[in-house]
Amino acid sequence: MIEIKKNIYDYRLEELEQLLQPIFRAKQIYNWLYIKYENDFSKMQNLPKEMREKLENEYQIKNLEIIQIQTSKDGTKKYLFRTNDGLSFESVFIKMRDKKQDENGKIIESEKWTFCLSSQVGCKVGCAFCYTAKGGFVRNLSSGEIVEQVVQLKKDNDIPPEKRVNIVYMGMGEPLDNLQNVSQAIKILSELDGLSISARRQTISTSGIAPKITQLGKMELGVQLAISLHAVDDTLRSQLIPMNKAYNIQSVISAVKTFPVDARKRVMFEYLVIKNINDDLASAKKLLKLLDGIKAKVNLILFNPHEGSEFQRPEIMQVRKFADFLTNKGLLCTIRESKGIDISAACGQLREKNILETQSPNVPRGTFKNKEL
Ligand code: SAH
Ligand code: SF4
Repeated sequence: MIEIKKNIYDYRLEELEQLLQPIFRAKQIYNWLYIKYENDFSKMQNLPKEMREKLENEYQIKNLEIIQIQTSKDGTKKYLFRTNDGLSFESVFIKMRDKKQDENGKIIESEKWTFCLSSQVGCKVGCAFCYTAKGGFVRNLSSGEIVEQVVQLKKDNDIPPEKRVNIVYMGMGEPLDNLQNVSQAIKILSELDGLSISARRQTISTSGIAPKITQLGKMELGVQLAISLHAVDDTLRSQLIPMNKAYNIQSVISAVKTFPVDARKRVMFEYLVIKNINDDLASAKKLLKLLDGIKAKVNLILFNPHEGSEFQRPEIMQVRKFADFLTNKGLLCTIRESKGIDISAACGQLREKNILETQSPNVPRGTFKNKEL
């Protein structure tokens, strides 16, 4: 019988402390994994030999292999990973210029680094505009596989442990359809003895599984919430996101109203702008009304075309008009800069490679039409 080793990245510090005595060893292991990015137990010199052997026999560090890296003209890098069971998925490393004012009003420019992580191989939601959806659903990623994306991206880019990075769960998959593993990953990533990425710097983007938004809120993780709204009436939203038939706009808005929002933060509403579909000012007006009473900000995303897509990218002037309308009415609104579009690393352009071309997925697209969660 082949014994399957446990993934060392699956554990929070206190869980490792329970598993490996004496308890101070867990902190040492955390230091090797998350500060030194070590991926070989035998090199963890301050651990006794017997412990290194035990770890080697029972746990696995390298659970993901980088099989391809593509670098965009704008510096965005897309990583293709392979899992131990031979599946593949992508993560994206995005560098953005960030401008802030100091207390004297001087503009300080810095670089903001964001990791866009996958939470599933494929996705069940089946949105009409999304390339990930075309491949159907394969499986959830484990918490360790989510955490390891960060470690490998930090290691591959020589990012010093103390450098602040942001996490967005906006790669492949619907994070709230894998809530248990995603919430565990959020906790592991925020461990102060490890990567120390506070939940406040992690954002979950969801297509709107209303009861799971409520459940996430009750967990009080301190994580940021982004809602993929994309439409202001149910008929259109159901065409774009089939799951809207089960959880309509009002149910999503009601769930958001129960979500604990940090005093200095807002819930982000992502609005995918598609030419001649939802880019008119009447929609902007309805959006304003819909978000009334919510601490919200709107992020407009220009539709990114992909192979076989039936929609068109909107005119930038039209998107600006839409944004200006909302801003003038006092609603915070930004237009998302598309990063990595030349390497298909932008929103909605990620998809499993190789595998799905030869193997039919377990669940076809759009299986979330009914309340099955
Ligand atoms: N499943 C989650 C998170 C991953 S998708 C969600 O849907 O929110 C991350 C974002 O990319 C979502 O807002 C999604 O609607 C958007 N997106 C999907 N396809 C896109 C496309 N072709 N162009 C631009 N954005 C897209
Ligand atoms: Fe899934 Fe998000 Fe793509 Fe919709 S947009 S199919 S929820 S990954």
